[in-house]
Amino acid sequence: MFAPREDFFALAGPAPAGCAAAEWRARLELAACYRLFDWLGWAEGIYNHITLRLDTPQVDGPHADGVQPVFLINPYGLHYGEVSAANLLKIDSVGRKLDDSPYSVNAAGLVIHSAVHGARADAHCVMHTHTTSVMALACKQSGLRDDNFYSAYFKGRVGLHPFEGITTSSDEGPRLVASLGTHPVLLLRNHGVVVVGASIAAAFEQLWTFQRACDVQLASDSMAGANLPVAPDVLARIGEQAARMTPQGAGQGELLFYGMLRRAGVTASSISNLNRIKT
Ligand SMILES: [Zn+2]
Repeated sequence: MFAPREDFFALAGPAPAGCAAAEWRARLELAACYRLFDWLGWAEGIYNHITLRLDTPQVDGPHADGVQPVFLINPYGLHYGEVSAANLLKIDSVGRKLDDSPYSVNAAGLVIHSAVHGARADAHCVMHTHTTSVMALACKQSGLRDDNFYSAYFKGRVGLHPFEGITTSSDEGPRLVASLGTHPVLLLRNHGVVVVGASIAAAFEQLWTFQRACDVQLASDSMAGANLPVAPDVLARIGEQAARMTPQGAGQGELLFYGMLRRAGVTASSISNLNRIKT
């Protein structure tokens, strides 16, 4: 049976001492995602972030019980190509490190990701990018239109957030969450994008599609003449059509995510790096 996620973990070694097996798998999968972003050209120097919440199902949810999110984030100062399962930081909702690590946390990453992880039960994975196409589109008054193959899917699925400068103030968190609402995508005006998903693979599939939507809008707007609009009845059914193309719920996005990992040559054994990188 074709089981790409389990095939990925089959090459993983055992969890190191002191790290629970479930956390080690989360670390491997997240580190692989950083390497994939690097391979795709989605890294932004040492900036931007992909985070994964470690909550158990019992403490999951909107945290009405007072439980705050614990999540993995990239060490500030390392390029995505240097992120490994071992050097990812485990932090709490206010950025306190829960493991011994020489690295610090990027304050902007903490504000965005902590707010979203803490507010949405389905926000296990949160991705934030500044790719050229996405940022260029975020600067446009019109935002993302719905007139290309990929952007049509996002009609009604994108929240908008006004630019408040670099997201280093925790009081912006609730406003980010309000702008996101129940959408899978938040376009940060003049800035970039935030995508949430119930898993890394699910978030990756949304982001990959959004990135392509922005790439195509950027390209078509550089050509003479107006774009053809997509008919309303097509727009109305495209979400359902897309849902039939990929498994929903558990397994969403896994065919694409693991296929791209294989293409990029990213394996569980290549990103373990049991020795933390020392600065
Ligand atoms: Zn940013």
